Amino acid sequence: MNFIMNIPGLKDVLIEKIEEHGERIVLYVSLPKKLHRCPSCGARTKKVHDYRLQKIKHLKWFERLTCLFYKRRRYACACGKRFSEKASFIDKYQRFSKEWNLVAQVRCIKAKTFKEAGETLGTSSSTIIRRFQQVAKQHMVSGVRLPKAITIDEYKGDTDAGTYQLIVANADTHEPLDILPNRRKDTIKDYLYQYGADVELVVMDMNPSFKAAVREALGRTVIVADRFHFCRYIYWAIDEVRRKVQKERHAYDRKKCKRMRYVLYKRSRKLHDKSKWYRDRYIGMSEELKTAYELKEAYCEWFDWAKTTDDVVEVKRRLEAFYRKVGEARIPDFLKAIQTLKNWQVEILNSFAFNYSNGFLEVINNKTKVMKRNAYGFRRFDRFRAKILLNIQYKEIGVHLG
Ligand SMILES: [Zn+2]
Repeated sequence: MNFIMNIPGLKDVLIEKIEEHGERIVLYVSLPKKLHRCPSCGARTKKVHDYRLQKIKHLKWFERLTCLFYKRRRYACACGKRFSEKASFIDKYQRFSKEWNLVAQVRCIKAKTFKEAGETLGTSSSTIIRRFQQVAKQHMVSGVRLPKAITIDEYKGDTDAGTYQLIVANADTHEPLDILPNRRKDTIKDYLYQYGADVELVVMDMNPSFKAAVREALGRTVIVADRFHFCRYIYWAIDEVRRKVQKERHAYDRKKCKRMRYVLYKRSRKLHDKSKWYRDRYIGMSEELKTAYELKEAYCEWFDWAKTTDDVVEVKRRLEAFYRKVGEARIPDFLKAIQTLKNWQVEILNSFAFNYSNGFLEVINNKTKVMKRNAYGFRRFDRFRAKILLNIQYKEIGVHLG
């Protein structure tokens, strides 16, 4: 049996024999003899010196691990030089075929775990980790200049660098740009100072140390408070009131109420009749809860309207009217909430003036969580960072490879 077959990655290779060794397939291959140019003197030669047998791992064939026994030919030149023939399917001194290398490069990034990639490719996890680190080195350039508008948000990465990491993304394209090892002010400040010369706008949640870092590193850059984050303060406030009111209730009532608490958070106009009935019963429990509910509704009305208009002056005026309502109601949890809103008022109004939001980061954060659950052992921050950023870069690549 001596034929040429076009197996992917093995073009023009002569397959001399195919053997099955248990679950493995072994292909005995060689290349046709042909004229080679001597690398030393440049003369042409076809004189064979000897053969060396080389074992090379290749991709799975029919779902089975496959390796090549390659009979590598060496030529001899009249000048005395001996040299190996050219083989396009393998790089010099490699134990893996080029095709294998290509797939390994994609799989080490896309597989759920290094172990899984290793099993698919018939190699050890540590080989896959080494591949991964090579790819990371090639593809991850640090020190790129950040774009004009960026967004920053923390997430729980639980790596050896700390519990929380900070993700930096392009606010216009939503493309993640980098991950910082922690959310400390100095870390953010140094990073922005180094790479943020072009940054004109930063979207963030209401973390005072983020704001301080941006101010100190970038001076008068526009800061935009993320909508999702500032709305949460109002929801936290009504939830506090709800909890206090419920504590005073009978245990049975308490459980039932807790299950139905969503009726308080939904906008009134979006409630069905049945939910409305629960809502009325719920807020009928206490005068304070009823007031808290009305304040939340007033806030939502302001927020929904603010999103639709360009009149930032009027947005501010109506927000201040909401503050007055809260002032009259005198519910401590709401007073506390609007104090935070007041501290961040400029940044909140910016979110309507510039129309940016961080929402997409939640999606990334969720993806990251899944990755973390799957990739047991991603404790090392450098690997974790590379894994997340490379996955985003490789999103469109090699979905069907390997
Ligand atoms: Zn020669």
